[in-house]
Amino acid sequence: MKKVALVFVLAVFVPSLVLAWLAVRSLRDQQFLLERQQSLLYQGVSDGLARDVQAALTEQQRLFAESAGNLVRERDPLDVARDFDNLLRRQWPLARVGFAVTLTGEILSPSLTARPEARLFCADNGRFLTNRESAEVYLNPKIVGNTAPLPGSSLASPEPSSDFLGRLGWNKMKQTARNVIPQQMAGASQKTGASVDNTEQQFSKVAASEGEFRQLIGEDNDGALARFVDNKLSVLFWCRAARDPQLILGAQLDLPRLERELGVLVQQAAPELRADICVALLDDTGKPVALSNPRFRANWKRPFVATEIGETLPHWEVAVYLVDPTKLTRSADTVKLTLGLLIALLVLAIGVGSWLIVADLNRQLRLARQKTDFVSNVSHELKTPLTSIRMFSELLAEARVTDPAKQRSYLGIITAETARLTRLINNVLDFARIERGEKKYQFESCDLVELARETVETYRPHLEASGFRVVCQFPTAHQIVKADRDALAQVIVNLLSNAEKYSDTRKEVEVRLSSKTASLPSVDLEVLDRGLGVPPGCGEKIFEQFYRAHDSLSSGIQGSGLGLTLARQIARAHDGEVSYSPREGGGSCFTLRLPILPAGPERSA
Ligand code: ADP
Repeated sequence: MKKVALVFVLAVFVPSLVLAWLAVRSLRDQQFLLERQQSLLYQGVSDGLARDVQAALTEQQRLFAESAGNLVRERDPLDVARDFDNLLRRQWPLARVGFAVTLTGEILSPSLTARPEARLFCADNGRFLTNRESAEVYLNPKIVGNTAPLPGSSLASPEPSSDFLGRLGWNKMKQTARNVIPQQMAGASQKTGASVDNTEQQFSKVAASEGEFRQLIGEDNDGALARFVDNKLSVLFWCRAARDPQLILGAQLDLPRLERELGVLVQQAAPELRADICVALLDDTGKPVALSNPRFRANWKRPFVATEIGETLPHWEVAVYLVDPTKLTRSADTVKLTLGLLIALLVLAIGVGSWLIVADLNRQLRLARQKTDFVSNVSHELKTPLTSIRMFSELLAEARVTDPAKQRSYLGIITAETARLTRLINNVLDFARIERGEKKYQFESCDLVELARETVETYRPHLEASGFRVVCQFPTAHQIVKADRDALAQVIVNLLSNAEKYSDTRKEVEVRLSSKTASLPSVDLEVLDRGLGVPPGCGEKIFEQFYRAHDSLSSGIQGSGLGLTLARQIARAHDGEVSYSPREGGGSCFTLRLPILPAGPERSA
């Protein structure tokens, strides 16, 4: 048993507890896991929109180059260049100012006497475009290979070619702080297993490089560059005139108009997630220029996730905000609670299951032990009377005893031992029949008083011969019960035989019969003795099969542990019961209670 218990504890219980502990530990990471899932989902939305914005800019860049190309195709490039501002704005509405410069440093358009916007443009950019000063610019690099950014990348524009970086002296580029601090950062949270520290400074992935206009455009045919003049962003598209490579045609983008066009893209972003998130396009000051939900307000600097657009719109970001930030914590709490309860329930089930298994194992082991005891007890019980029968019958057969009184006594012993044997065998056979469900009862109306008296009288000589005083207290009225006479007689004999076996020096057996007039009229047959009594706590166990409160070894009293089991089974088959109670003044009281049929006529005692 100890070995089984040890194996059970080591193989089932301890691993279950360890699993439960691991499960509870993993619960603590629920919030992080949920955040992680959502951050991946929303980062995808943000990256996707940043890509769309970048694609829209590339398309506009292409449209600009096409418009400029169309203008110089049929006319003299220099003529076109001189009026390029007006000509371009008619062709391509996104232009705020159109400009034409030569690589030798001459501004052909716009003229200094033109519109205020054009004058302002010349004041801001003239020296840079004519190569008279270096400026800090953000260049949209030539795209090499695959134009689609990697998924999860927080920068929508592709990586610049090393050749391009070399030309600009990339290592001279200075890193600047990012406008917003996303609460979730794909790279950082993946590595550290936690959300980014709120106060952590993040650097922008777009970096400015410094140079003169001519140096920056190099040998390229077209491109885009952005620069900040007095903290105001100016985005310039440029292309080389096909028929005059020394002539550069360009346009400054009308940013408010561009914002309106990009706003359409923002409004179309992730319509299925509208209830959960708001997508915003933030400008270089971190203010929203377009929102997917115009009524949404938040701390714009602290989005859930964000993606930088790239060099064409430096420090512009696509940002995703949670509509209800507490929802995440709430769902994490719900998941934690549900899983916690489930774990507790499973651990409880394992505990209860283990306890049931151990209890059952114990019961099976006890039963197995009792069966072994039973076999040795029965063999012993069979052997003892057989030895007496054999010994006394041999004495009589060999005519070695001549005294008639002794002969009668020996015959009496043989009869008693035979009866004991018969009783034992009957008990064993009946028990086996009941266990197999084959026991058949012949129910008939019978008078319990008469049956009890007959049975006691049959057993009385044996008891009196063993020195017992037998007292009977029977009522005068018939107590009619529906019963199998033989089965009930067997119950009474078992109780009398026990009273005899478990009596010590006070050899008194009393049999009482009394009726009870409760809601269900019944009759009680009590067999009382002044013997050893049943040890405390065993009052119910003695009715279990093979159970013996006084085992043969310690008490020297032989038995099979079946007598009371049978008595109770037979009583229950009669809708009755057999129970034990300690007798006042010492000894036992066994009561057979049976339901009674309507009483018969009075009769004399
Ligand atoms: P057994 O063959 O052992 O007597 P029983 O089923 O008749 O089997 O009884 C079960 C146990 O109940 C006995 O072993 C004994 O310990 C206890 N018992 C039964 N009758 C008495 C009694 N009259 N007095 C004391 N103990 C009793």
